Amino acid sequence: MSTRYDLAIVGSGAAGISAAINAKLRNKNIIVFGSKDLSAKLIKAPIIDNYLGLPEITGKQLKDKFINHATAMGIEVIPEKINNVYAMGDYFALIANENNYEAVSVIIATGVEFSKTLPGEFEYLGQGVSYCATCDASFFKGKVVTVIGYNQESIDEANFISEIVEKTYFIPMFKGDYALNPNIEMVQGTPVSIKGTDKVELLELKDREITTDGVFILRDSVSPEQLVPGLEMEGKHIKVTRNMETNVAGLYAAGDISGKPYQYMKAAGEGQVATLNAVSFIDDKR
Ligand code: FAD
Repeated sequence: MSTRYDLAIVGSGAAGISAAINAKLRNKNIIVFGSKDLSAKLIKAPIIDNYLGLPEITGKQLKDKFINHATAMGIEVIPEKINNVYAMGDYFALIANENNYEAVSVIIATGVEFSKTLPGEFEYLGQGVSYCATCDASFFKGKVVTVIGYNQESIDEANFISEIVEKTYFIPMFKGDYALNPNIEMVQGTPVSIKGTDKVELLELKDREITTDGVFILRDSVSPEQLVPGLEMEGKHIKVTRNMETNVAGLYAAGDISGKPYQYMKAAGEGQVATLNAVSFIDDKR
């Protein structure tokens, strides 16, 4: 039987790490998902002038301070992307590529991603469009699949898919090291839309079309509606109360994903509020 954590935190930016530290202070058994560098938006900031008590700090220095603080409290960030969070009644199931996890309460602190979805992406989700190679590759046995990869990890996912399907195209949306299996055809181009009738049939690029049965879109993050079925949104942000509660009992949201202004201290503060309310929720369940 897998461990059931008190609290799972999805995201390792200012909101997620603040949530984790506050949960540890409340003696909760937690798990944090994100990246070893915590957040691209942290390490890319050249200079930060508005973090209380830490004037003129660089993003990388602030990241190191967050890591040192978290590590000193025994917090480790698990470098796994969570693809789905399902409310199961008494607990939440969190689905990653390789593993599944369980927690009594969940905080979504995934930040906002600004890359636009493709026309047809949501329309054909589950009808040929997928965000998760491990979950869905087996549905495409003997078929043609196109992977749109936004990060280095998408190379591994494309290689995995190519071992199952008949033909794999890979469209890189990042600069990097493309160590693709020899049976994968790399196509340089800009995806424009996904087309079909009742299921995916075609990926339209700016200067060509690919006939394909499936399109795997592998970005750094998953949209909140895709992450948590039934989650109430306000535009591209998760709708929250002042207690950072969402419309799903036991599920909280904090940081950029819960709305503007997009700022480190606002994110850290909301992470704290989310945790303190999650702790009450967890304690009430006992
Ligand atoms: P993020 O920092 O975006 O972190 C989200 C984390 O969640 C990431 O690690 C991501 O990989 C992870 N994640 C996402 N989806 C999943 C998933 N499905 N599973 C697992 N992990 C996932 N703000 C200021 O206050 N002052 C500044 O000077 C400033 N300068 C900035 C400079 C730049 C260049 C940029 C880009 C932003 C700047 N900001 C600044 C804004 C600030 O970066 C954000 O407000 C802040 O990072 C938000 O923190 P967050 O925790 O909500 O999300």
